[in-house]
Amino acid sequence: IPVDPFDLVIFGGTGDLARRKIYPGLYQRMKAGQMPAEARIVGAARSEHDDEEFRGIVRDALIEFVPEKDIDSETLEAFLACLSYEAVDARGDAGWEELKGHIRDGVVHAFYFSVAPSLFGDLAERLHTYGMAGDGCRIVVEKPFGHDLASAKELNATLEKHFSEEQIYRIDHYLGKETVQNLMAVRFGNVLFEPLWNAQYVDHIQITVAETVGVGGRGEYYDRSGAMRDMVQNHLMQLLCLIAMEPPSRFGSDEVRDEKLKVIRALEPVQPHHIIRGQYEAKGDEPDFREDAGDPRSRTESFIALRLAISNWRWAGTPFYLRTGKKLKARTSEIAVVFKDAPHSIFDETGKSHRNILTIRLQPNEGMELCVTIKEPGPGGMRLVDVPLDMTFADALGPDGADIPEAYERLIMDVIRGNQTLFMRGDEVEAAWAWTDPLIAGWEARNDVPKPYEPGSSGPEDALMLMHRDGRKWREIK
Ligand code: NAD
Repeated sequence: IPVDPFDLVIFGGTGDLARRKIYPGLYQRMKAGQMPAEARIVGAARSEHDDEEFRGIVRDALIEFVPEKDIDSETLEAFLACLSYEAVDARGDAGWEELKGHIRDGVVHAFYFSVAPSLFGDLAERLHTYGMAGDGCRIVVEKPFGHDLASAKELNATLEKHFSEEQIYRIDHYLGKETVQNLMAVRFGNVLFEPLWNAQYVDHIQITVAETVGVGGRGEYYDRSGAMRDMVQNHLMQLLCLIAMEPPSRFGSDEVRDEKLKVIRALEPVQPHHIIRGQYEAKGDEPDFREDAGDPRSRTESFIALRLAISNWRWAGTPFYLRTGKKLKARTSEIAVVFKDAPHSIFDETGKSHRNILTIRLQPNEGMELCVTIKEPGPGGMRLVDVPLDMTFADALGPDGADIPEAYERLIMDVIRGNQTLFMRGDEVEAAWAWTDPLIAGWEARNDVPKPYEPGSSGPEDALMLMHRDGRKWREIK
């Protein structure tokens, strides 16, 4: 179903994110028939280009970042025809009057802030000054949303000077992933899972977001954030909320976000020995983290593992283990809900344990799988095996999940539709920082030094011990 006609202005329209994600996402929506013919996309950035040059930049981006099989010349030309460009200085007055000339009456207005966060306030201010911040318009804000609670509050206050909460779309692209939405469908669309979704039946939950790349060219930037700020405060926290929240009364934006907020507020303070931070070592020609960060004494973590507890009736007693890091063994993101052992085994299998595990895999091969125990087929007696039950719409999505829509496609269309369910609300972001800040302050006060780990491993040994001590085991990163 096509969305309403819109004018979408992309500030930072020549930048990396716009080229890799935003234009390819919009192109795919046009190909799927969702973008109306009257849609207009305006690139706005500092450099001078005319419309034709800009279309050339976007054409190159589409050819580079859209899978070849999806490129067809008819859609490509139709897409490029929707584009125009205006050179605009976020910090000055150049280009703003001209930009206003692109905005039509009677269509949805959306402004995508795909620029450095230090410019978010300037953009909000100038949209207001130049009369583009009308009641019906929407702004889309990229990550990072603040560096700590104080800066997040300041940013919220700046945006809220000219825009109401209903107009602000704070992106966390993890929420746009098909499987994350499927998680909600599976949890709240079936009677099967919800009765078991609590401390009585769930032994523990683990969330892993592992990357194989180092911090590379972003070293200096990353050195000021670290894995906690860069990944845990936003992405892992959002996943934790969706897994742990109570059923909302309806799938509405405030209903869902109210429940997520309650999870963050119910997080217990984390004991220092339940936080393991790591830094990758050098390997072969590849430098260690400190060299990448440009600071031989850096204590920033490129890896973190945490054991969390949620103090409410549902989860008291069930630990949540989170880990994320750079230069790990494989590029994997998954959530695993590990159920308890059956209370008593009637089968003669001493020492063996069969556990139901629900795995929500975000990367690679998005999908969901439930591990169940069955009898091994054949006449060999009553032997049990664990087999995966695939809960993904495999036929519709193709064998390797290649046709799963990218998170950005879904999210940008949600902005146009005015649906905020998969975006973070201001109070959620602040609550997440309010939980994060004392942990960071704690390890800074303790002068905690991150544990070294070998590139290509699963992180520091201590992270393995975090679960071993509890008689549990991380799932293999593969
Ligand atoms: P980039 O450096 O590639 O692009 C920045 C863009 O901002 C350019 O188009 C530039 O012309 C424009 N710009 C800079 N100063 C300006 C000014 N004064 N006035 C107007 N325009 C100006 O950055 P990026 O990687 O595309 O990142 C953009 C935003 O998205 C950042 O907030 C970043 O944190 C976030 N983000 C990026 C990625 C990614 O993969 N690149 C991922 C997640 C979030």
